[in-house]
Amino acid sequence: MKLTTCTYYALAASLLTLATAPPVLAQSAAPDGPTKVKTKHKRGQEAAPTASVVSAAAPTLTDYSLPYAASITPAGLKADLDVLASDAYEGRETGKKGQKMAADYIAKAFAADGLVGPVPGSDNPYLQHFTMNRVPIDPASTMQVGGKTYTLGKDFYVLVPGSFAGSPLTVKPVFVGYGIKEDKYSDLATAPAVGSDLVVLLGQPLNKAGQPLLGPASPYGGSGLRALGARTAFMIPLQPHAVFLIAPTAAQFGQAPKELAQVLGREQLAFADQPAPAGACIVLVSPALGAALLGTTPSGLTQYEKGVAAAGKPIASGFKPAAASVRLKQKKEPFTTENVLGYLEGTDKKDEVVVLSAHYDHLGIKNGVVYNGADDDGSGTVSVLAMARAFVQAKKDGHGPRRSILFLANVGEEEGLLGSQYYTDHPVFPLANTVTDLNIDMVGRVDSLHQGKGDYVYLVGDDRLSQELHTLSEATNQQYNPVALDYKYNDPNDPEHIYERSDHYNFAKHNVPIIFYTSGLHPQYHQATDDVELIDFPAMARRDQLVFHTAWAVANRDQRIMVDEKYRSTGFAPTPADLERYVGTYASAQIPLKITFIKDGTTLKAQATGQPAFALEPVSQGVFKVDQAGLQVQFDPAKPAFTLKQGGKEYPFTKE
Ligand SMILES: [Zn+2]
Repeated sequence: MKLTTCTYYALAASLLTLATAPPVLAQSAAPDGPTKVKTKHKRGQEAAPTASVVSAAAPTLTDYSLPYAASITPAGLKADLDVLASDAYEGRETGKKGQKMAADYIAKAFAADGLVGPVPGSDNPYLQHFTMNRVPIDPASTMQVGGKTYTLGKDFYVLVPGSFAGSPLTVKPVFVGYGIKEDKYSDLATAPAVGSDLVVLLGQPLNKAGQPLLGPASPYGGSGLRALGARTAFMIPLQPHAVFLIAPTAAQFGQAPKELAQVLGREQLAFADQPAPAGACIVLVSPALGAALLGTTPSGLTQYEKGVAAAGKPIASGFKPAAASVRLKQKKEPFTTENVLGYLEGTDKKDEVVVLSAHYDHLGIKNGVVYNGADDDGSGTVSVLAMARAFVQAKKDGHGPRRSILFLANVGEEEGLLGSQYYTDHPVFPLANTVTDLNIDMVGRVDSLHQGKGDYVYLVGDDRLSQELHTLSEATNQQYNPVALDYKYNDPNDPEHIYERSDHYNFAKHNVPIIFYTSGLHPQYHQATDDVELIDFPAMARRDQLVFHTAWAVANRDQRIMVDEKYRSTGFAPTPADLERYVGTYASAQIPLKITFIKDGTTLKAQATGQPAFALEPVSQGVFKVDQAGLQVQFDPAKPAFTLKQGGKEYPFTKE
């Protein structure tokens, strides 16, 4: 599962949602309840009992799926994971040696099972290669404030380069206090215009007694990931152009390389054929640099903090921020990487494809330590391998699926869902015929909310695009040894935004119904300690069996899973002349946002200030929509203008 969430749509800012580990380090519980699965210890040799066993028991209403589901066993899963999550695989970092080894392992497993490699024109038909650039930030990057030059790694750290990558930019800082939006304390009351360069004081407001104003459990203290993540709710509505976070003290700024290693240790990756990533630039600055940005001194910042403590609420700062110039240099190192695909052809509905996916990449080696990613997402990868074997055996026994199944091991997930983005932008099988993606990411643990409470799995997204899929999923679970289905993370308001944090999201963007399966976050998430020893294999096998049964049902039912009516394509195609007419930059008197429309082939794309371009789906004459953003654009037939509709509001725009 990826760390950050970026929403690539015009009215949602591209900002960090920094994941926070649950506070309690709960040891993975021993498997509760008996497991009725045979365990053999040879990889890929799990019993795939012949269907005649069940046929004999139920000669008329045979459910052929049962023995194949039972062939997914804890021992079989462990045998694969012992290899893929071993130190030899070097944490499977995208583009690095360990990733190549893992791709080779998965491709060979698919081939040995008898799956077809479906990638046309590839040197290895199981591998979908593509080229990316690694774009690390050059240590020579600088900031200039008031004639003084500040250097990267000494005065500031770049958390997200965003749209600043590669270009010197002038910023006009606006101070927004602690950057907190809570009922009891809100810096939003005097919030600046959308698209500003925000300067945020980290740490938290205190009361007169020197205690945290928002209570001892407030997440805002310090400058770690938790304190940054807590500010997302404040930042998103402001769609900042840049965010400068001032470390509370010089000592805490000095801790940044350690505290923020997860973010600072990441090298940005970008598709070779696409422009550099857009979105807000997020920088952590020292108190000295922060004070300079605000036209004050570190003691001026302290005075502000004292003023807040005395007033018990946000106060006017009196700061006179200075314009600054930020010059982030990036290197460009091209490399090739690959998704791994295995294809099982269906029978009478073989043109329709069900995708079973997981990402096989992880975080690599940091400071000499291998991040094995046993749960993230070694667990999903070996689950896909196990399901592939089960479906292949079923087909060999004459019970192959009616629809085809694509087993898809994605690369680049940790770097921003890149492999699945590449696949959905370059699908081997048309997305229009792709009926569902069942995606598995981190299914090998028992999280703190479910310790000792029996089998469970979180389902995310199953009802977002297709009520039919939700109904099928629930019914399937009821039919086979049910596990508790937890929809906590399916709440669109859940702060973790899990729906946007794994590969299914790229399918959902194309209106392919998805279900995302996960056992949730845990203290070892994105840590070097995410190891095989902590995996609960029996719990994982039961989750996989549910995914398998669901895939079986989706692949074999008479009617394909349909997206809900409102998400269906109308098939409307605007004329090239119409598209040409919409092209241009538009502004609104109501919101400080400019939107530029571009014609890309037969597609109309939109780009908002500081955001990546995204495609609009034509609905009817002059009307376009983006379902994932709940957004509609309606062009005026007579004038160069359009109305943007989102969240029950309407904003008129006219061409500049
Ligand atoms: Zn992850």
